[in-house]
Amino acid sequence: MSPAFMPDPKPPSLEDVAKRVTILEERVKTMECRGCGREFDSTNGQNTFHSEKCNSAYHLRLRREKEGRHLRIFTCPVCSEIIETYSTTKKYCSLFCSVTAQSDKAKIKRSKTL
Ligand SMILES: [Zn+2]
Ligand SMILES: [Zn+2]
Repeated sequence: MSPAFMPDPKPPSLEDVAKRVTILEERVKTMECRGCGREFDSTNGQNTFHSEKCNSAYHLRLRREKEGRHLRIFTCPVCSEIIETYSTTKKYCSLFCSVTAQSDKAKIKRSKTL
């Protein structure tokens, strides 16, 4: 194998590069995400969300607010993680924390009865 098999690609001219950059700049628009309010570069000027996640989170919020539910923000009593939920019954960030809390309670009960 000799490097002669790989011909040097012709470097693009400065004009070519400048043209490409202006095309990109025209396409990229700075938009404000409707989900989180952060500014982001929208490549087609159509995206109003900076990510698929923000898009679905925003629509979930709309749906929940229509149902009269409001976002609740609290800290998990087990791991102190911040939780955002529409559920009125949720107490822990995860099943794991819920189980941990239950077993802690059970432990306390047991130590009291002993
Ligand atoms: Zn966003
Ligand atoms: Zn937790």
